[in-house]
Amino acid sequence: MLQSILSFDNRLVEKLPQDPDTERSVRQVSAAWSAVAPEPVSAPELIATSPDMMRVLGIPPEVATRPEFADVFSGNTVLPGMQPHATNYGGHQFGHWAGQLGDGRAITLAEVIASSGQHWELQLKGAGRTPYSRHADGRAVLRSSAREFLCSEAMHFLGVPTTRALSLIATGDAVVRDMFYDGHPKAEPGAIVCRASPSFIRFGHFQLPNARGDTALLHEWVTFCIARDFPHISSSGEAAYAQWFEEICVRTARMVAEWMRVGFVHGVMNTDNMSVLGLTIDYGPYGFVDAFDPDFTPNTTDAQGRRYRFGWQPRIAYWNLQQLALALSPLFKDASPLQAGLEAYALTYGQLDRQNAARKLGLSNCTDEDMQLLRDLQAWMHAGEVDMTLCFNALNVETIEDLRAESFDDACYDSEKQSAQAETLTQWLDRYKARARADVWSWSERMQTMRLANPAFILRNWIVQRAIEQAETGDYQGIHDLLDVLQRPYDTHLGYTGRAGRRPDWARNAPGCSMLSCSS
Ligand code: AMP
Ligand code: MG
Repeated sequence: MLQSILSFDNRLVEKLPQDPDTERSVRQVSAAWSAVAPEPVSAPELIATSPDMMRVLGIPPEVATRPEFADVFSGNTVLPGMQPHATNYGGHQFGHWAGQLGDGRAITLAEVIASSGQHWELQLKGAGRTPYSRHADGRAVLRSSAREFLCSEAMHFLGVPTTRALSLIATGDAVVRDMFYDGHPKAEPGAIVCRASPSFIRFGHFQLPNARGDTALLHEWVTFCIARDFPHISSSGEAAYAQWFEEICVRTARMVAEWMRVGFVHGVMNTDNMSVLGLTIDYGPYGFVDAFDPDFTPNTTDAQGRRYRFGWQPRIAYWNLQQLALALSPLFKDASPLQAGLEAYALTYGQLDRQNAARKLGLSNCTDEDMQLLRDLQAWMHAGEVDMTLCFNALNVETIEDLRAESFDDACYDSEKQSAQAETLTQWLDRYKARARADVWSWSERMQTMRLANPAFILRNWIVQRAIEQAETGDYQGIHDLLDVLQRPYDTHLGYTGRAGRRPDWARNAPGCSMLSCSS
């Protein structure tokens, strides 16, 4: 059945050099990719599909209920025309060059052509060992797979550029993980996400050949990526490379500006986790900020240096782009086009940051004074331990008279800090009201803009954690409920919004809620 629905066009494996070795054994690979089939699992059981991705790929919903669907998207059945493979990349992890990394537990099944004509790479995460698995098992646990599945879709509906997810399948096999890295490994249920993206090419795909001095392969990757993923670039040679790099920079700026708008913290912005299409990729120990805090990082592995803290994401993205620029430098006579790309990042990010400030505050434009107004609100949120999402929801009221300090009560996590900051809020509200009155926009224009800039529903860690704990008992209702809500994040009258979405006290320091390890 799936065979007759999906049509394949495996361009990456056709165009880029293949590793001649077809064993699964761990090794250094000098080619672009290795042929490797998924390792079978015991008892694949479909947990959920994304209705939207099913529609995009033209798969009727009833097809998912057939055993064939779980067989194919767990990797147990490889359809004729699929060419399962793992790609080879390197990367900087936490600022240090890590050498070859590669798809250690991700196996791309095929590139499919959707009815719209758009191509999607379908990739299984947790499908077993590949030549890039190093000492690990190639598997993924249910908790991390559910987190990736749900957040990919949540981010899409929030309007944030992201890779997508088609399905979440329990494997029936146990996976052993030492969640806290404290010498207490535990068997957990395993699962596989089928993720989908027009391209899974990462900065690290270019960094590795450059680090090895393999300019020929670097060249092949660049030429391929431009032809497949940036087909509108019609120039050639250095002009094409320059335009391409600048587009990567601009797309990355857009992605990060959107992260900052909704309060998303990626948690592991290593260069191997950066997509050339500027899509959020590799959902691991991510988190949405509850109480506004630029220093917040959800990743316990990053707790020391906090390299990937919320407020540093724009500069880390820039650092990552610099690494990509260095990797591409052999293709350029001099560095000026690369410098221009990096400048485009800074310029685009600055513009979007300003636009988002205006949208979040419901202002028709954004002056330097307005930027300061936003900074002062953020400073109040930080000092008063105030929930970022609920704060902006509280700011969007029916009439200017409704704008009162009490409206923010539900957004405050600590009553003492709230009292200590009460005067600051009152003064800020007076400034804000004066500014809103002076604006050319009507109150209803303002409300409409704010509603679309400030989500009512974000996929908070504690909310996902509850659904995961339920799923670990074999009950997937919580996952289905979230899948439903996350498709309408700007609707204010749904479950888990408003006060119902606020992080409860038990979740403040609970594992999986406020902090996550990389163990997945
Ligand atoms: P990440 O931190 O998830 O982006 O992964 C960094 C590198 O480790 C990538 O090359 C992954 O493919 C690899 N990796 C992570 N977890 C596993 C696993 N369980 N088995 C094999 N490789 C893994
Ligand atoms: Mg990764």
